[in-house]
Amino acid sequence: MRPSRERPATDDADPYLPGRPDPGFTVQSYDLDLDYRVATNRLDGVAEVAATTTRPLEEVRLELTGLRVGDVRVDGARPARWRQQPRHLTVRLASALPAGASFTVRVAYQGQPRPLVGRWGDVGWEELTDGVIVAGQPDGAPSWFPCHDSPGDKAAFRVAVSAEAPYTVVANGVRTQRTARAGRVRWVYEQPEPTAPYLAAVQVGRYDELLLAGGPVVQRAYVPRPLVARARADLARQPQMMTLFTELFGPYPFAEYAVVVTADDLEVPLEAQAMSTFGANHVDGRGTWERLVAHELAHQWFGNSLTVGTWRDIWLHEGFACYAEWLWSAASGGQDADTLARASHARHARLPQDIDVADPGPDRMFDDRVYQRGALVLHALRLDLGEEAFARLLRTWAVTHRHSTVDTAAFVACASSVAGRPVDALVRRWLAARLPAWPA
Ligand SMILES: [Zn+2]
Repeated sequence: MRPSRERPATDDADPYLPGRPDPGFTVQSYDLDLDYRVATNRLDGVAEVAATTTRPLEEVRLELTGLRVGDVRVDGARPARWRQQPRHLTVRLASALPAGASFTVRVAYQGQPRPLVGRWGDVGWEELTDGVIVAGQPDGAPSWFPCHDSPGDKAAFRVAVSAEAPYTVVANGVRTQRTARAGRVRWVYEQPEPTAPYLAAVQVGRYDELLLAGGPVVQRAYVPRPLVARARADLARQPQMMTLFTELFGPYPFAEYAVVVTADDLEVPLEAQAMSTFGANHVDGRGTWERLVAHELAHQWFGNSLTVGTWRDIWLHEGFACYAEWLWSAASGGQDADTLARASHARHARLPQDIDVADPGPDRMFDDRVYQRGALVLHALRLDLGEEAFARLLRTWAVTHRHSTVDTAAFVACASSVAGRPVDALVRRWLAARLPAWPA
């Protein structure tokens, strides 16, 4: 038997997520069957993880924190052994697997899920006053299911949750089943498109389900009854946003889109796959936070369909979502993107210029400068390429890399290809810590 020890940090697959080496497999699908009691925050789960080895493996390591594993099967049989550590479940296989082998790990687990507390605050499964949200970004997925929590390891999801009858459960994708029995309701959602674990989510609350009229995609909202009128007003133009973004970025990447408004206030809205969640404080019936409605919707393309392989490239999510706010503003009678970009540039010229936009470091990956400076990179390209080529770039980028993993080099290559000349120097200059002067 090998002694158990953590691997050295140099093995980290993502420097922003220390202690998580490449596990030697990629996941094809997660099938989660969860029994949940809101009253006691008690979760009983069975997770089936279907994966393929990328190198010969004697052990399979999944991330899981704060929940107790009761049973493990590999391809239906008992493994040689398994052991649970605070952040991992390590399964010793009965016989080693060669590279390229498919296998399924079935994990039965239970407990009271809690958010993981770290440098990014509370992430993952979190109890609300009367319900639950999952805010998985960037590393909270192991708070509620065993997984390989890397943004680059995307998989299909099927999530079944049973909960007390008064509660509505919303998960990623399309609802395929809703069965009531003995005071409980079982909800089944399927998300066949590749989904990063941090974008998997379950939202539980006392919600009314609304259908938002118009637009090219079915859009639902789940809202506490007292907030319905305000949410209807604030989401009234979301179908028009959907139309605009499908024109600009190509087809919406998923079958439907859901917006959840929680009864509690939330610090920030958050995107999940085919879903976004807003706090009660983000709806006021006057459209005050409409730019955030646009921002979260844009993440369905930039972040959820095109997902970074490692977190250092997060500007490819946030810079684009921020730029989409400016595009929506321009298209909806607000200030145009150039005016907003100039104001942002002037503001950032007065701020410390010590953040490398394409590698801000784990502590500053959610710094507003990454968002705004990321958007300024795009505006600088727009001024350089001209309107027609820039529009082609946005669409080409989103369509070519649909449902895949991206990085800054891939974006530069795409931009150079659309421009018909290298734009590396321009992009690198705008990504660098020192803010360039406004283009003459
Ligand atoms: Zn964002």
